[in-house]
This record gives sequence, structure tokens and C-alpha cells, in this order.
Amino acid sequence: MIGAGQAGLSVAWHLQRAGLVAGRDLVVLDRAPGTGGAWQFRWDALRLGLAHRVHDLPGMHEMGLRFDDADRQRPAREVVSEYYRRFEEHHDLRVRRPVGVTAVRHGDDRGSDALVVETRDEHGVAGAIRTEVVVNASGTWGTPFVPWVPGRDVFGGRQLDTTGYRDAAEFAGQDVVVVGGGTSAIGFLLELDGVARSTRWFTRRPVVWSEEPGLAVGAAVAAVEDQDRAARAGRALPSIVSGTGLPVSPRIRRGIARGLLEAEPMFTRLDAHGVLTADGEHVHADAVLWATGFRADLRHLAPLHLRTESGGVVVEDGRSSAEPRLFLAGYGPQASTIGANRAGRRIARQVLAVLADDEAADR
Ligand code: FAD
Repeated sequence: MIGAGQAGLSVAWHLQRAGLVAGRDLVVLDRAPGTGGAWQFRWDALRLGLAHRVHDLPGMHEMGLRFDDADRQRPAREVVSEYYRRFEEHHDLRVRRPVGVTAVRHGDDRGSDALVVETRDEHGVAGAIRTEVVVNASGTWGTPFVPWVPGRDVFGGRQLDTTGYRDAAEFAGQDVVVVGGGTSAIGFLLELDGVARSTRWFTRRPVVWSEEPGLAVGAAVAAVEDQDRAARAGRALPSIVSGTGLPVSPRIRRGIARGLLEAEPMFTRLDAHGVLTADGEHVHADAVLWATGFRADLRHLAPLHLRTESGGVVVEDGRSSAEPRLFLAGYGPQASTIGANRAGRRIARQVLAVLADDEAADR
């Protein structure tokens, strides 16, 4: 198992319940230093109350743990890391960390179906694990996406993506350009209000607000179906919020009323001192904050040559079509905490079937 975020822990819990022994039949590796998956790296101002919703892991209820009971004023980073730590301890999942997976390859012995997982620990010591099945649950945090815009290399101010954002105080008194049409961009604009000297917001597509909770649920289902179609066809995954619209919370409504959340069409270029808008206005910027999304972090799977010409990986029901011993938990339609939970059950069932087939073949 590669990754101990929501997806990896969910699969691990189901496998363990089915009788696999953690540390022996089931090895969970994670390159991050602590518990919490990507949540351990999120910025302080992201509170649980501000996240869309973090769903409980399966197996949390029997421990009496529920995210809904957590203090919503605490940073989500702290709460999720603490709850995952208690979950791992309670279920004795024995995650090995920090151990990064550098590559997954086909085994080189003739006739062997094994996959080889190459690792590196915090001291740079390399290792290799031979395994019958790999469940990849490496998330997206390691591969933020920043679009190419002319002049990106000549801008003299600070450029950072979502993973580099710590808190608004770093931008006190600055002119900040925020790029991206998702909830992270909106969160940054709201936090920077009154701290930065000015903010301007640019998005590739016009922003669509979603006022109607019922409609948002329907749109979310459709957006997840879109992701599933793309994953099955091996296409690059579409953005979820482009399909759902952005839900309007009371805080966002206040931001809209104050004129803070007015998105402008994407600027055409950067220069040393700022950006040039589609109308030809020069906007001074000390910093450009790219909240432009993420891609699945599959770099370590490159030796398996899974990428299609259209830039994706063919994944059906969490399983790679090109390499049936590889499962991708939390990929595409599963990339939310609820999707990751569902992935856990479905992928664990398929993994157990592969192991049972192998055992039957060995007899
Ligand atoms: P992650 O949590 O990213 O876990 C992946 C793990 O794999 C990490 O611990 C990483 O260290 C490890 N890893 C990666 N590569 C390697 C490697 N090569 N070797 C070893 N280990 C590796 N979803 C929601 O449902 N609700 C929300 O409110 C919400 N808010 C979000 C806010 C932001 C800013 C972002 C970016 C995403 C948000 N999401 C939210 C989506 C959320 O990230 C997922 O729902 C979920 O937490 C992802 O779980 P995961 O296990 O797939 O990935």
C-alpha cells in the first residue's frame, strides 16, 4: 500500500478486517513524516468548519470518533492528523514512515508476476519490496498543477501554489493576484482581505455559484460520473468544481457582497512587476498565488508505462486496466473523503480475489 491518507487507510482497514496481518501480509508505506495524509500540510486557517466535509473513516465509529464532534475552530490539519493517528494506533496498522516509494516495476524474474516496490527512507537508504499486489493511494498533494502563462519565468515577485501557502500574514501590505476557480482560491481571498494591500482574482472560466443545495448534490454526482468516464477512457481527469459550481456559504456571501469575490477573466501574461489583464490593464503584484488544482501523483508508477496518449491512466472501479495487479485508490471519481471510503471496500474486495486466485494457482 502506497500512502496512508483517507484512501490508503480505508483500504488497509478493510483488508485487515478480512484477515490480512498488518506488518506481514499488508505493508503500508508513507513518505510524509506524520499522520494525516495531505491534511498534515494544509494551512492553519483551513478549519474543519470551512472544509467541504471530511467524512469519517470506516472503523472510526467503533472507536467513538467522529469528525462532526471535533472542535470546528481547530485547524483541520491538526484534527485530521490526530484522528488518523488514533485510528492507526487503535487498528494497529503499523504504517512505515517516512518511507517514499521511488518506483514500482515489473519483477525481472522470468515467469514471475511479482511487482517490485522501490523505496527510500529518511536517511536516503534504498530498499525493495516484492509484492503480489500494489494499492497506490498517493493522492495529489505532491503534484500541484500550475498552468503555463507567458512571462511566468520573468515575474520578479513571489509565485507560490496552494501547497506553499501558510498564512495571510506573509502577504501583509502586499498586492496579491490569486489565480484559480476553486474553493482554495476563495479561501485565500477571504483570508487575505484586510491583510494584503489589494487582491485581484483571475479564473480561466467564469465562476458559477451554486445557491441551491439540492442542485449542488445532483451536479456533484454528475461531476463524479464525468471523472469516472475520463478514468475509464484513460483521459486526463476533469476538474470537479467546473461541474458542480461553487457552494455559497454565509462567509462567501459576505465576500461577494463586499465585491471581494469578483473573478476576472484570466490575464494574458506576466511581466516583472505584475500581470496584464485581458482588457490590457497592468496590475501590479508582489505575489501571484496559483490555486490552480492538482494532478494525481503517479510519478513513481512511470516504469509501468500506464499513461495513455490522452494523458490519463485507464482505471476501472479502482483497478488499472493495463496492470491488473495495481489498484489506484482515491483516483478520479474516488478523490474525496467519501469517495476514498467507498474505494476502500471495493478495492479491498478485488485485492482479496487476486490473492485467492494466486493461492489457488499455487496449490
Ligand atoms: P492524501 O491525503 O494526499 O494521502 C496520500 C498519501 O500518500 C500522503 O500521506 C503522501 O505522503 C503519500 N504518498 C504520496 N506519494 C507517495 C510515495 N511516492 N511514496 C510514499 N508515500 C506517498 N475532500 C473532502 O472530502 N472534503 C474536504 O473538505 C476537502 N478539502 C480539501 C481541501 C484542499 C485544499 C485539497 C487540496 C483537497 C481537499 N479535499 C477534500 C480532497 C482531499 O484531499 C481528499 O478528499 C482526501 O483527503 C484525499 O485522500 P487521499 O488518501 O487520496 O490522499
